[in-house]
Parts: sequence; C-alpha cells; structure tokens
Amino acid sequence: MATVTVPRPRLNWRERLYLPAIVAGLTITLKHFKNMLFGRTKVTMQYPEEKWDSSLPDHYRGAPALVRDEDGRVRCVACQLCEFICPPRAIKIIPGEIPSTDRFAKVEKYPEAFDIDMIRCIFCGMCEEVCPEQAIFLRKDYAITGFTRAEMVHHKEKLLEIGGVMHGVVLKWNEKK
Ligand code: SF4
Ligand code: SF4
Repeated sequence: MATVTVPRPRLNWRERLYLPAIVAGLTITLKHFKNMLFGRTKVTMQYPEEKWDSSLPDHYRGAPALVRDEDGRVRCVACQLCEFICPPRAIKIIPGEIPSTDRFAKVEKYPEAFDIDMIRCIFCGMCEEVCPEQAIFLRKDYAITGFTRAEMVHHKEKLLEIGGVMHGVVLKWNEKK
C-alpha cells in the first residue's frame, strides 16, 4: 500500500503565537455566558427531572405494547403478521392453539409467548399498522431502560401491563361472526 505524507502547514508569525485563536474562542464563550446570565439563551432541559411528556405530539411513536379489551381478554390472535413485518426482527411469537371444545374455538390461536426486544425495536409503528385485531399499539414511552439485555426483552405479561385496556369492537369474540 502506498504511503501518503501529509505536508505540515506553514504557519505565519501570527498563527504561531496561537493567542488570536485562544482569544477568539474565549470571546465566543463569554458571549454565550453573558446571554445565559441575562436569560437570552435557552438552557438545555434538565432531564430526567424535567421531561417532554406533556408536550409530546399525539402522533408520537414510543415503545409498542399489547392491549386487552374491556373484558380483560387479550386482543392478539397470534397471526404473526407483526412478527413478519417488523424490520429489525424485534418480535418473537409462539402461538398457542385454542382447544376445539372452547366457546371461542373459531379464533384458533392465542399468543402463548410474545416477546419484543426493546434493544432492537426502532419504534417504526409497522406492527401497529399491520395488526388486524388492533392488539398492539405504540405508546408514548421512550425511556425504556434495563441493566441487562434480558431485561430489555419485554415478555407478554409486561407488554400487557404496559398496554392496558383498549376500548372498541373486537369481532373475534362475537359468536355470530
Ligand atoms: S415498532 Fe417497528 S421495530 Fe418496534 S416492534 Fe413494532 S414493527 Fe418492530
Ligand atoms: S399483535 Fe396483531 S399482528 Fe401481531 S400477532 Fe397479534 S394479532 Fe397478529
């Protein structure tokens, strides 16, 4: 591989003093300091004591979560569309089969396991968009933390706890449909 020698720049006597550059830098710092003292500069938000939560727009996309209906039933039917569409492959579902003797056997499946890896999730909202049962929603949570990688994987129970209840018609429980 050819070696490239970068020529050392030739500095004039003013540049060799370095003082003009130091004074110029300090002048900018003092200007910002003065503006801050007189309240003319916006100070960075003091997170986490202060948060943006109240000013988040309605369409803000945060962490996804599963929801139950008003009767406490899990809305997800384990169709796996969200798992298929998820760009970073953050969702893992193990479908369980509803027994043929069950009153709602026509629903066929339920999520035996439903994991979302929050390290992988990019909060894109594709899962919410593709879900035919309105079972998964992006909430406004953005501060998802954990001490280990395992803690960052949200399991079904945690997802349902975060998601809470979503009202609205769920046709799968309707025996006549
Ligand atoms: S929000 Fe996007 S990245 Fe996150 S789980 Fe849903 S589809 Fe996957
Ligand atoms: S959350 Fe929706 S899209 Fe994903 S498996 Fe359940 S029903 Fe299907």
